[in-house]
Amino acid sequence: MFIEPRVGNGNHATRRGWVEVICGSMFSGKTEELIRRLNRAKIAKQKIEIFKPRIDKRYHEEDVVSHNANSIRSTPIDFAQDMLLLGGSCDVVGVDEAQFFDEGLAEVCVKLANSGVRVIAAGLDMDYLGKPFGPMPALMAVAEYVTKVHAVCVHCGDIATYSFRSVPSEQQVLLGETDSYEARCRHCFVKGMKGRS
Ligand code: ADP
Ligand code: MG
Repeated sequence: MFIEPRVGNGNHATRRGWVEVICGSMFSGKTEELIRRLNRAKIAKQKIEIFKPRIDKRYHEEDVVSHNANSIRSTPIDFAQDMLLLGGSCDVVGVDEAQFFDEGLAEVCVKLANSGVRVIAAGLDMDYLGKPFGPMPALMAVAEYVTKVHAVCVHCGDIATYSFRSVPSEQQVLLGETDSYEARCRHCFVKGMKGRS
């Protein structure tokens, strides 16, 4: 479990920011962990704001919702840049589905952290082909803390790090759930990809 380096930010004039990344496959508990950290910041009476890319409307237009139905209010935005204006005055800024943001995400998170904001970003580290996803590698490089969470392989029960697409489509972004993706371990992912080609 991730232990926050410091929960209370105390005096605004002396506050210090940093970047945390929560990554992993689909169903690995990224959103759950993001909500857990943000709820703790709320308990510490910190000012928080949560952003998600507007393209992700799978469960709710505005809330961030996990697969076990935890949710937290969020603001859908179009560009990473929008966070600077809307999140600059917060103690903590949360970002979900970070992989769908533009390449400017890492720079925006660095700016927020430099100005004293604690940034917590959750996102898929790999796409359905097992390739690094969008702005995630750059974001992980600039983060102080990177937590990789794991799902359970639906075929063998091992730890899963891959999101295997179970329907035919070659788009990198295909919004979906258990109807179109399966959490798989390396072995079962490779087997599935071989069966496809
Ligand atoms: P993520 O944001 O990483 O997609 P969530 O936080 O939304 O994940 O959901 C995690 C929850 O998904 C788990 O607590 C569990 O209830 C559920 N779940 C469904 N399928 C799986 C799986 N294959 N492995 C682990 N958890 C799963
Ligand atoms: Mg999620």
